[in-house]
Order: sequence, then C-alpha cells, then structure tokens
Amino acid sequence: MGCDLSALTNLDPTDPDATQRLLEQCTATLTDPTLWIWAIVFTVVCIAVGAIIGKHKNAVARDVLLAAMLGPIGWIISLLLPARKPAAKCPSCAKPVDAGDRHCRHCGAALAGGAKIGARKP
Ligand SMILES: [Zn+2]
Repeated sequence: MGCDLSALTNLDPTDPDATQRLLEQCTATLTDPTLWIWAIVFTVVCIAVGAIIGKHKNAVARDVLLAAMLGPIGWIISLLLPARKPAAKCPSCAKPVDAGDRHCRHCGAALAGGAKIGARKP
C-alpha cells in the first residue's frame, strides 16, 4: 500500500489500524531526507537561474525572489517583465534617479544622461 490517492480510496473505514498504517507511511514519505535534499537542490538551482535572468534584466533581487517563490514559472515571469533601467545617481545630491529623468526628483537639478547640465534649482 503506497501513499497515494488510490490507497486513500481503497482504505477500509472500519479498520483503524489500516488508517494508522497509511498515515505513518505518508508521514515517512514526507520526512524522507532524499525528498528534502532534492527540494533544496531544486530551489537553489531555481534561484541561480533567476539570478542569471535578473543580471541580464538589471533586477537581480526581483528575479531571485520570483524564482525562489515560483520556480520555473518565476523564470517565465522574469523573462516577460521589462528590463529595469540602469540606476543612475544625481551629480548634485548623489541620490538615485532613473536614467531617463530630465530633473532630479530629490533636489531638482537638471539631468542629461546622468550628467549634470544645469545649475541647482532654488
Ligand atoms: Zn539631486
């Protein structure tokens, strides 16, 4: 008698020992170290692939999280999501700005391709 749905449907409801044996067998299956080693290796591989995708998409944390939570489905979502713009710093205040911004949202300095072209606004 294996630990699967057919064992559950063939279980004699009047025999409590059979129910107990099936429960112990299913518990032994879940606590088998081989199963856990495979699960851990699979998760680590998923995270590594997610990190590689994230490196190309400039979103390592996002794609590692997706891969850790969803596995290969997370890879597909990562591949379908748009790549993040490379982070840039404001030359005036050194706070992070998006690459396409024309003005710093923190200090208001004019930006052009990450380089400061104008004076700081009052
Ligand atoms: Zn700034």
